[in-house]
Amino acid sequence: MIPYGRQHITDDDIQAVEKILRSDFLTQGPAVPAFEAELCKATGSQYASAVNSATSALHIACLALRLGRGGMLWTAPNTFVASANVALLCGAQVDFVDIDPATRNMSVDALKQKLETSERRPDILMPVHFAGRSCEMAEIADLAKIYGFKIIEDASHAVGGSYRGSPIGRCVYSDIAVFSFHPVKIVTTGEGGAALTNDPELDDRLKVLRTHGVTRDPRLMETTNAAPWEYDQLELGLNYRMADIAAALGTSQMSRLESYVARRKELAGRYNSAFEASGFGDQLGLPPLDDLEIHQSAWHLYTVEVPARVNKRRLFEALREAGVGVNVHYQPVHLQPYYRRLNFSEGDFPNAEEYYRRALTLPLHPQVTEEEQDKVVNLLLEQL
Ligand SMILES: *Cc1c(COP(=O)(O)O)cnc(C)c1O
Repeated sequence: MIPYGRQHITDDDIQAVEKILRSDFLTQGPAVPAFEAELCKATGSQYASAVNSATSALHIACLALRLGRGGMLWTAPNTFVASANVALLCGAQVDFVDIDPATRNMSVDALKQKLETSERRPDILMPVHFAGRSCEMAEIADLAKIYGFKIIEDASHAVGGSYRGSPIGRCVYSDIAVFSFHPVKIVTTGEGGAALTNDPELDDRLKVLRTHGVTRDPRLMETTNAAPWEYDQLELGLNYRMADIAAALGTSQMSRLESYVARRKELAGRYNSAFEASGFGDQLGLPPLDDLEIHQSAWHLYTVEVPARVNKRRLFEALREAGVGVNVHYQPVHLQPYYRRLNFSEGDFPNAEEYYRRALTLPLHPQVTEEEQDKVVNLLLEQL
């Protein structure tokens, strides 16, 4: 099977992890701060907090921005369920903003309209950079100034991408940005995530929240003249820490971030060219390629939209049988049984629903060979 996404592990990665296994600290040692420094270097962000998943990072990002009971978060329906779930885990409510069919990202027009007409506006907006291509953050940040909401970027797909000349994760247009290091994403720590910010107070809160709400930092402790063994619990936190084993893998992987993204971009361009040359380019909704001025995607996913006349399920099964690990991103979150019980229904976000009916994710990761890619293209075209 040619999987839709897969980690790439080198001997250097294995040595980096082995070194930790032979060291004094499997967790809470020096490897996590080193990985965080690497994330800051790669993005230009001031602070990074590595945690055990992007879901955890999104959760403490909401908590750090004091989302709670009575609060409201808006995100896009074309995302993984975690983007919305974290708001509910804080006791807040969730609503969605429909996507722009051209980019599959949150539509700025839909956002504007919803802000103008809603009685309950969001405390936090969570744009999701689908497939690694940034949302229109400058326009979104302008709206945040007018309406006074905070912004958490769900950049789970997007480490290595850039927007208007700045690396995604630099938080030029947001309060916090979150990456995922799950093995199908761009770089991996096994399981893992990070929350980046330029705000020192937010960073303090993120770091306290990821470790039970507890701190030994004299700057933050309420106990004065603390004994050397004392720690203060300041907030209700969780254990969302990343282990040093994972962080060492992450640091080693980050050294190849640029080459990974470059290869993904090359393969995505090659897919688009092949489909356009086949004459089926217009029938297959192809993803927008990078435009150098504004958008440089990290190319986490390569997703086409199959024509309405094609039975997607049959196509999916035929490709899987032929050894092509196609997938679908995403089932609209608001149509999950859990969200339907919160009163969302079919027709609420028609662009995300229509996109989902036709969306098909093709294999895209640095180890896909050109022969494999040609096979994927030909098998797909045969089924049209
Ligand atoms: C993968 C992903 C997550 C969750 O990431 P984990 O690290 O698996 O918790 C959240 N949001 C989006 C958009 C994702 O793709």
